[in-house]
Amino acid sequence: MLHVVPAFARIGEENAFAVLARATDLQRQGRDIINLGIGQPDFQTPGHIVEAAIKALRDGHHGYTPATGILPLREAITADLHRRLNVDVSPELVMVVPGGKVTMYMAILMFGEPGAEIMYPDPGFPIYRSMIEYTGATPIPVPIREENGFAFSAEETLSLITPKTRLLILNSPANPTGGVTPKAEIDALVKGLEKHPDVAIMSDEIYGQMTYDGEVHQTLLAYPQIRDRLILLDGASKTYAMTGWRLGWSVWPKALYENARKLAVNSFSCTNAATQFAGIAALEGPQDAVHAMLKEFDARRKIVVEGLNGLPNVSAATPKGAFYAFPNISKTGWKAKKLASALLEEAGVATIGGPDFGVHGEGYIRLSYANSADNIRKALARMGEFLASAKPT
Ligand code: PLP
Repeated sequence: MLHVVPAFARIGEENAFAVLARATDLQRQGRDIINLGIGQPDFQTPGHIVEAAIKALRDGHHGYTPATGILPLREAITADLHRRLNVDVSPELVMVVPGGKVTMYMAILMFGEPGAEIMYPDPGFPIYRSMIEYTGATPIPVPIREENGFAFSAEETLSLITPKTRLLILNSPANPTGGVTPKAEIDALVKGLEKHPDVAIMSDEIYGQMTYDGEVHQTLLAYPQIRDRLILLDGASKTYAMTGWRLGWSVWPKALYENARKLAVNSFSCTNAATQFAGIAALEGPQDAVHAMLKEFDARRKIVVEGLNGLPNVSAATPKGAFYAFPNISKTGWKAKKLASALLEEAGVATIGGPDFGVHGEGYIRLSYANSADNIRKALARMGEFLASAKPT
């Protein structure tokens, strides 16, 4: 018998991938499926970014790079942070990693162990909890509530900190809710965190450029009082439609940087070299494609919200960021996962049940609007017909 360590019995998953697999299966069987389950932009990576990667390969960039990433990319990242968010970060504290997920993996590995508590948003990205469980630490969900605009509540978050808390994970703009935590709330949270100097903070800002209605993304990097324990998670996946390239980056406090570098050396060695050159082109090149994508997401967002609010017993808050809607379906009589499954199997619409993002996700489903406006309209019509005729099971 093989003796795999018990931690692997605790490791979780992202159900979005299972839904995608099922949706693809059904499509192969000839079913017409509209996929509102997947969390990736339905746009192509802009051409000049693709060209930069091809050029890098032609120029012979085929070898390992430094584990922390090539300096010109790290400099492009700091310049971008300065331009967009008006924060100063040294390239020495920036680490290039193969995708946004890698930063959370490293941060949770650094702070998770039996007896430690790690706080994370619920509903939230499922890998936070999965990795916390893997380390043996106790996951402490921070409820993200609809009545609070799906923003973090500084008061409630601070009330959950105990002497065992090692790491607090924040995410705004948020998956799966589309919530954006306002500056006043983040100000209050940081003020409270000053009383807990032993708690590290990981701020997942991968949707930082995706806000609507003039909503301003407030980066945690803007608070010098927590910079010595703040880990920033960011990357190119969502902003530049580059999910498959695997390009993320993090900003680490000086005291943790070496740990992150060593984890890189011990696992992936470095991020794909050509991808790193593509990253420079993404950050330093024209941003028109980013703006055009956001404009399109914004138009679809309005269609989704209006459509959802027209469905029987469904209500949807207007998401302020990312590209997800998180309608409240509790009045339909359906449990969220059952509804998501029935919508896929019977109505041909893929969505994700809220509980796949945590216990506080019951009563909600997630729709990604990374699909065409026509398909979104069609999906909403199917959902309407389904809800009007099917009996909750
Ligand atoms: N953080 C959040 C909140 C996400 O929603 C995702 C992807 O869906 C990630 C991180 C991971 O991004 P990547 O694909 O770059 O690993």
